[in-house]
Amino acid sequence: MSAIINNIEIVKTESSKINEVDFDNLKFGSVFSDHMLVCDYKNGKWEAPKIMPYQPITLDPSAKIFHYGQSVFEGMKAYKDINDKVWLFRPLDNWKRLNISSKRLAIPELPEDYFMEGLKALLELDKDWIPTNDGSSLYIRPFVFASGEGFHASPADEYKFIICTAPSGSYFSGDVKVLIEQTYSRSANGGVGFAKAGGNYAGQFYPTQLAVKKGYQQVIWTDDNNHEYIEEAGAMNIFVRINDTLITGPTSDRILDGITRKSIIEIAESQNIPVEVRKLSVKEVVEAAENGTLKEMFGAGTAAVVSPISGFGYNGVDYDLPKFDDTYASYFKKRITDIQTNKSEDPFGWRF
Ligand code: PMP
Repeated sequence: MSAIINNIEIVKTESSKINEVDFDNLKFGSVFSDHMLVCDYKNGKWEAPKIMPYQPITLDPSAKIFHYGQSVFEGMKAYKDINDKVWLFRPLDNWKRLNISSKRLAIPELPEDYFMEGLKALLELDKDWIPTNDGSSLYIRPFVFASGEGFHASPADEYKFIICTAPSGSYFSGDVKVLIEQTYSRSANGGVGFAKAGGNYAGQFYPTQLAVKKGYQQVIWTDDNNHEYIEEAGAMNIFVRINDTLITGPTSDRILDGITRKSIIEIAESQNIPVEVRKLSVKEVVEAAENGTLKEMFGAGTAAVVSPISGFGYNGVDYDLPKFDDTYASYFKKRITDIQTNKSEDPFGWRF
């Protein structure tokens, strides 16, 4: 069955997989809903998006994504409230960031309505896939990559924009012990760290594997110059609480401008929680751990919202963080998820 709605051709699946899914035991991003949106860039323009059954795609072995890694992506979530209304969280910021990433990778930027209208049509069709259990959501993965062919090391002439969605359970990472990285870097000045480029993540895997072998779950990325300043936590932004002050590094060429990060900063400012956006040295964090003023460290990102850090390793020494109730981490997590799921007012106008 095929229909054209809002200039989007929709081919519905003939056999939904929804009854095969155990919605009470969802892992993160491992089952995919019935449909996907696909939009091709050819002859210098984006063609009309199509929605079709979720399926494999065929690419030529010379497609430039395989050789030169021209690919960018986004991560966002859809939530359903108790009245079955569907909500997104600051989706225009994801569209803007996708284009910021694309520009840096010489990928053509995508018009706003292709992203927003495509996303709305896809969610309308697959809204039964949005889980309603506490903490669950429909994870949304929009991505763009070079499908154009040829071994010439230059930008491709054809691209694909795809949106797939995956019902995902509550993201509980447990106690995260992190290693402050002193050898490897995820990004550099003038590089692509601020972009959500596929290759950035590939480059993180090996140092993270080494940290895991040493008994840590994640790496804290430091600056590429001297590994002196704290920059990000795995694939999340990082916040450190010293006494009652919340500190996070300024965004730069090297740090992703996270939507969760900037939401936390705005909430903190609105609540008169002291928040400083400034460079934060490893030395300052180690000293604060030693003199007992280091209260909390946590990662901030769409998947987990807030992921508390229980301790860190540096220079062969392990430092534990104090355990207590009423942490900033739990406060921000609740404030943000309540707004996302329409359980509270949204004074910031973030819900969509
Ligand atoms: N830093 C990196 C490197 C990331 O991949 C992510 C996840 N998108 C974040 C930070 C957090 O960004 P957001 O809050 O927009 O998910």
